Amino acid sequence: MPGKIRLYDTYQAKVVDFVPIVAGEVSIYYCGPTVYNYAHLGNIRPVLVFDLLGRVLRELGYKVHMISNYTDIDDKIINKALEEKKSEKEVSDFYIAAYEKVLSQLNIIPLEYHPRVSNYIPQIVDFISAIVDKGLAYKTASGDVYFSVKDDPFYGSLSKTKIDDLISGSRVEIGEEKKSPLDFALWKNTSDQGIKFDSSLGKGRPGWHTECVVMINSYFKKPLIDIHGGGFDLKFPHHENEMAQSWAYDGTRLANTWMHVGFLNMNGEKMSKSLGNIVMAQEAIDKFGGNVIRDFYLTTYYRSPVNFTQEAIETATSEVDKYERLMKKFEAKEGLEGIVFTSAFDQESFDKFLSFLADDLNVANALTVLAEVMKNANNLLRNPRSSLDDLSKAFNTYKKMLEVLGFKFEPLLISSQDKETYASYLQARADKDFKRSDELRQLLIAKGLM
Ligand code: AMP
Ligand code: ZN
Repeated sequence: MPGKIRLYDTYQAKVVDFVPIVAGEVSIYYCGPTVYNYAHLGNIRPVLVFDLLGRVLRELGYKVHMISNYTDIDDKIINKALEEKKSEKEVSDFYIAAYEKVLSQLNIIPLEYHPRVSNYIPQIVDFISAIVDKGLAYKTASGDVYFSVKDDPFYGSLSKTKIDDLISGSRVEIGEEKKSPLDFALWKNTSDQGIKFDSSLGKGRPGWHTECVVMINSYFKKPLIDIHGGGFDLKFPHHENEMAQSWAYDGTRLANTWMHVGFLNMNGEKMSKSLGNIVMAQEAIDKFGGNVIRDFYLTTYYRSPVNFTQEAIETATSEVDKYERLMKKFEAKEGLEGIVFTSAFDQESFDKFLSFLADDLNVANALTVLAEVMKNANNLLRNPRSSLDDLSKAFNTYKKMLEVLGFKFEPLLISSQDKETYASYLQARADKDFKRSDELRQLLIAKGLM
């Protein structure tokens, strides 16, 4: 049986014991990007958090089914296509490829599937029609379809917003035929130049809030999954509207656990395209490397906001350097001394590390266990009398912890020349030729081999 994990659920507004729908398995869906532009650094925070969650769940023994969508139908994509005289598909394919390159450089475990809205139009139309038939959505004179928020007694229960407060702060835009300002579009008929689909609802496009519910139902073949999430900004209205449609369609709240990831801020404000305070994810990876970006995010609790500052990046860089140096020391020891580490493993430290991560992804506490393992490893490596068993135990445990956190380091390449240099260094030391042994040692240090 898989190990226990506790997660904060936005709907229940507390940390709760996670109970899977199907024993031993976890279904996860997180809302993905609208692919009309390159991803910025904020966009990838949820991706890294869900990647860590997936790693922890696998380590606990669960079979993880994780998917995330690409919103490839949206006015922003249409506008970009018109601007660049391309089809919407060319625009979205281009930005999807750029996004997937970012994911791979961040060492994100490939998802089980990336559904695209454009492939689910018939299912979306059927879904909307079913809600209309239930009387919870209505068609306007021009054929648009709106969800009737006042008919949903649960509306606001996810984001803890009150319908009356919302109504007093909102208004119906000119040209909209809503009955109430909170009602949201499920389908819009249109004769504009953008992509549109012929359907029983008319010629038009679905609204943004329907796609995820339909893709969850279609892919998982059930109306309720274990975990659904995204950034904090999606809580309202996007996720509230998704949940409302799920209640309307088949009486479930779509996901048992709703997870929301805190913002990346820049100069005290949310990093966002509309504010213009963005750093592109690709640019940051090119400059600092995927491991540093991962470390930058890992060290803050995932629900808290995090500030993008030079200082934070420097701290992450020095942490990652430490991780890599220790990894290389082990590899150098194995490669230069011709020893082979055994499979010895410090299960007790690892279990402690994992149980912190299973406590709503408490990385900060898990890192204190990692620090102990590193300290012990450095002591062992410094001591020429350390046993192979102790060294192997420290190495395997350390390596596994880095893997669970998602770091990836290139293996150390040791040439035959390096091995000769090392043999000469040992010989010079045995001969008490300290000048020569010191020179050779410096050479090995410069190559990261000592
Ligand atoms: P979008 O393409 O704007 O729909 O965003 C894609 C994902 O990025 C969503 O899960 C958003 O919640 C998330 N996101 C956008 N901006 C930020 C930010 N500054 N910090 C954290 N997450 C963000
Ligand atoms: Zn969504």
